[in-house]
Amino acid sequence: MFFEPPIAYEPPVYRPPSEWRSLLIQVTIGCSNNKCTYCDMYRSKTYRVRPIEKIKEDLDKCASSGMKPDKIFLCDGDALGAPMEVLEETLNHINKTFPDTRRVGIYATAENILEKSEEELRTLASKKLDIAYLGLESGDDKVLHMIVKGNTADEMERASLKIKDCGFKLSTIAMLGVGGKKYSKQHVENTAKMLSATNPQFFSFLTTFSVPGTPYHTMIERGLIEPLTSKELLIEMHDILKLSSFDFNQVIFRANHVSNANPLGGTLPRDKEEILKTLKHWIDQTPEGVYPKAPARM
Ligand code: SF4
Repeated sequence: MFFEPPIAYEPPVYRPPSEWRSLLIQVTIGCSNNKCTYCDMYRSKTYRVRPIEKIKEDLDKCASSGMKPDKIFLCDGDALGAPMEVLEETLNHINKTFPDTRRVGIYATAENILEKSEEELRTLASKKLDIAYLGLESGDDKVLHMIVKGNTADEMERASLKIKDCGFKLSTIAMLGVGGKKYSKQHVENTAKMLSATNPQFFSFLTTFSVPGTPYHTMIERGLIEPLTSKELLIEMHDILKLSSFDFNQVIFRANHVSNANPLGGTLPRDKEEILKTLKHWIDQTPEGVYPKAPARM
């Protein structure tokens, strides 16, 4: 049975959709970048690494309450940026307190990955830190620069290959519509190139929405970014998948985030043709000039 952990979280707390059953443990608060123009997730927080005693206290409280989590997810925005001592000690304590926990997941930026040595990443992987979620957003340098992602496409590619080599599973997230109409073509082509080069084990799409109060929203209001219609967003998804060659391994693909109008998923390359056919059908059914409605919660 899944129940609320007895932890006083520092809100807001986010996790990937696939970690909905995981015990969430805050190792860091906020995001060390906190500059991506479209993102307001951690703007209310000042980035910091939590003291290891507090992290252990949270784990002990959960253990005392009888929790036996199958999976644990380390928050907040880019917990892989925490110093090695904190991550290692957190994982040691998880392995001691919850020996039956199968795996631990974490959000990571390309910078977090490149800053750690291969040996350090392998050490973390050997302690059950098994999957890293990387917000690629786009494989295009111009788009990455425009959204102030903080990393270039080359850094994204090197980080993706490095973390896989070090024993992690990689879950890559790309954003539909993030470059607006002007950069849509190069966003599609270079994101497909990046996915083909990095072959993540998991891959998902989010849809870009303009959140009031963010620089991205201001750019749209000033006409500097022209958002994509529902039809154009579906075309981007179709074209990125069509141009990507996931030939070397099995990729679990999901576009079931709350920001996406229609849930979609499958295993690539096995289901690629079927998914493309579904997308083609949706594209044909979607009228021109209609914009997607922002979800109630992101
Ligand atoms: S790195 Fe992620 S959490 Fe941090 S500002 Fe960018 S999108 Fe938001």
